[in-house]
Amino acid sequence: RMVPVEGPPGRPSPHWGAEDSSTIRVMQWNVLSQALGVNNDNFVSCPEAALDWAVRRPLMLQELVAAAPDIICLQEVDHYKFLERALSPLGYRGLFEPKPDSPCCYIPDNNGPDGCALLWRSDRFSLLGQHRDRLHVWRIASNQVVLLAVLRHEASGRELCVATTHLKARAGALMSKMRNEQGRELLRIVAAHADGRPVVLSGDFNAEPSEPVYRTVLEHTGMRLASAYSKASHREDDAAPSEDPVTESAQGEPAYTTWKVREEGEQCHTIDYIFYSSSAFSVDALLDFPSGEMLGPGRVPSFQYPSDHFSLCADLRLKDTIPEPR
Ligand code: NDP
Ligand code: CA
Repeated sequence: RMVPVEGPPGRPSPHWGAEDSSTIRVMQWNVLSQALGVNNDNFVSCPEAALDWAVRRPLMLQELVAAAPDIICLQEVDHYKFLERALSPLGYRGLFEPKPDSPCCYIPDNNGPDGCALLWRSDRFSLLGQHRDRLHVWRIASNQVVLLAVLRHEASGRELCVATTHLKARAGALMSKMRNEQGRELLRIVAAHADGRPVVLSGDFNAEPSEPVYRTVLEHTGMRLASAYSKASHREDDAAPSEDPVTESAQGEPAYTTWKVREEGEQCHTIDYIFYSSSAFSVDALLDFPSGEMLGPGRVPSFQYPSDHFSLCADLRLKDTIPEPR
């Protein structure tokens, strides 16, 4: 359910061909790799049959099609060909960038490496450029990638830069430091390719809002990014400035974007984000997540929901540009 962020009058109903051409619906989703979900994740309360590809496949498509996003950013995709085949008749075109040493490839009967995918509605956007890169940490190439597209929004004629990533997983101080280094490199790459265009940067950052990488993203001076799901991003422009906008943003993030049960217990974390250029967009509506009560004690994945991460979906409205002085 898309929920308007400022109450009425919003435009919450998701449907094809939204008349409002200045609004761009962006989806961010770690779909859960089929090979990893079955063999690596050890979801202790998920019935084995719920992880069958035959069960997950229609649920995944349903999630994508029901939200009708203009732009889709996905991680842990190890069935890109399938997605491309399913979504191209609906008008989507896309790109895929596999991880260079995907853990999927170590699993027998895998379906190839997992990676990031970026798709867009070809009736609303045209692709002007693309870039794929590995993120370096302390000058060493890591196993994490960024996939970036420069798109022209046909209705407005404006160009945007959309990028997606899946940062290093695992807990601990070293991993957190590594994610922060990856974040720095990511911002450097995105800023270079955006070259002043409005930016959408979405991904599974594997980092709670309290981690350094969250601050690194929000404090980038050139791009002035905000987090679409943080309540702090929806405050009135004339509200009193906060002492520490990053802390305020972190406190306004949702309670979770992933919620699963592993042997060590419940894993309920906020680690997925849609960051956007705050000077170019405002947030009109957000897709809400199922409540804990709706999910039940088994959490996700389940027979109702195919991933351990929820999809994030934000309606980003292009602000009117200020006319150049003559
Ligand atoms: P990451 O640490 O970033 O994680 C890889 C995947 O594991 C992510 O998709 C992540 O999902 C998932 N994951 C995170 N936490 C857990 C958990 N507790 N249980 C199960 N899965 C989890 O890995 P890298 O991409 O850096 O790759 C790791 C390296 O390990 C590769 O370079 C590869 O060479 C090596 N490898 C070797 C294997 C072998 O058999 N020899 C097997 C696997 C990897 P999420 O982001 O959603 O948390
Ligand atoms: Ca995962």
